Amino acid sequence: MVRRSNEKVKGGANPLNAKNNTFRLGILILPVLILVGVAGFFLFKRMEGTPPAVTLALATPSLGASQNIPLTVADPKSGIRKVTVALVKDGQEIVLLDKTFASAGILSGGVTREERLEIPFEPKSKGIGDGKAMLRMKVRDYSWRRWGNGNLTEQEQEVMIDTRPPSIEVLSKPHYFAQGGAGVVIYKLSEMCPKSGVLVGDEFYPGQAGFFKDAAIYMTMVAIDWQQGPNTPMHVIATDLAGNQTRSGISHLINPRTFKRDQIEVSDNFLEWKMPEFVQQVNAAPGASNLDIFLKVNGELRRANYDVLKKVLSKSDAQIYWKGEFLRLPDAAPRAGFADTRAYMYQGKKIDEQTHMGVDLASLEQSPVPAGNSGKVVFAENLGIYGLTVIIDHGMGLFSTYSHLSHIGVTVGQMLAKGEILGKTGTTGLAGGDHLHYGIMIYHTFVNPLAWWDPQWIKNNITSKIDALNQP
Ligand SMILES: [Zn+2]
Repeated sequence: MVRRSNEKVKGGANPLNAKNNTFRLGILILPVLILVGVAGFFLFKRMEGTPPAVTLALATPSLGASQNIPLTVADPKSGIRKVTVALVKDGQEIVLLDKTFASAGILSGGVTREERLEIPFEPKSKGIGDGKAMLRMKVRDYSWRRWGNGNLTEQEQEVMIDTRPPSIEVLSKPHYFAQGGAGVVIYKLSEMCPKSGVLVGDEFYPGQAGFFKDAAIYMTMVAIDWQQGPNTPMHVIATDLAGNQTRSGISHLINPRTFKRDQIEVSDNFLEWKMPEFVQQVNAAPGASNLDIFLKVNGELRRANYDVLKKVLSKSDAQIYWKGEFLRLPDAAPRAGFADTRAYMYQGKKIDEQTHMGVDLASLEQSPVPAGNSGKVVFAENLGIYGLTVIIDHGMGLFSTYSHLSHIGVTVGQMLAKGEILGKTGTTGLAGGDHLHYGIMIYHTFVNPLAWWDPQWIKNNITSKIDALNQP
């Protein structure tokens, strides 16, 4: 056993030497191997072949007199090296941006992996005229590819340079309005405009094309809010595809009106009868008094209901569905009027003040309610203080509203003829007795409904102006 082991030791001298040699060689080779490995890793990583991503986010291919060109460049692997944006027009290339991005070191690539650029562009300042042109974008990354020049993304986008603002011709005239009243404005634009309309003070009424044979003619109903006096300015405003905007004043006259002041007694009987219906709608605190609930209903809920109305009334069909004067609830006595400002009295003290934006008409209980004129039902449900409510779109921004109904007999989308029964009067919402709260709205603005019951007013102020332009 010993000998054998001696033999082994003896005979093992040579293999031991070989092992040492391998070990020495290993010491020499290992760093080289590691170096080659690391170099290979970096070579593989830094030689990546994914070109930068380029996203041009133009809202339209039309470029106007002044704007920023939004461009997002991204290169997650190597980082952005260089972005060049040029406009090519009539064979000439005008550089709009030539930006080099910083490097974080040869092994790391670029500092910037993603950037959103806003490139200011005013064609005139660069001596560029209107017409077709090409946006040419070149983006390089910090990859070692292409002999160290990086991956390249080239992208082109055809654009239209249009620095001329649209011209506006107001066709309807004259423009006489009453404070709290309505009217129509018709105008012609020199080019297609995605947004145009009439500004009454700061209130915007969108114009719509498609009603007249000439597709360049736009129309909208407009309103003078009950609080907008004779000095309220009026403009037609139009923005073309390239974002060029024109504002053109409308010569007009607003007759001032004063509105009534009124008082309403809020009795405990009324509160006990009505407030339970509203507890949930105003999220009343447990143990809140009826009066607290009432004040929330008359304030917060009223405003929230108006926000719903504004949304419903933000769109109107480009049609004139209606014809002639509007119908009034038959055999009804007028109660509260349009824009009456009411002081709410409780136990002899004024507790609140609100303005009544419609006309109250009282007839027999649960009287059938006719549609004031032809149109499309756009709302038919419960709406807080207004109770069960129906709204009809008569086209071009004109709406009629019917509130406090006890029954709704129509559905949204339904076309109604003038006089067709849409429901029954009632006491839903904040109504103290059976009546119809009838309103006329021009988009989001309440106007005095009385004018719309007057055939002469309608002819002079609306239909004659439309008819004058609708002749073949
Ligand atoms: Zn009312």
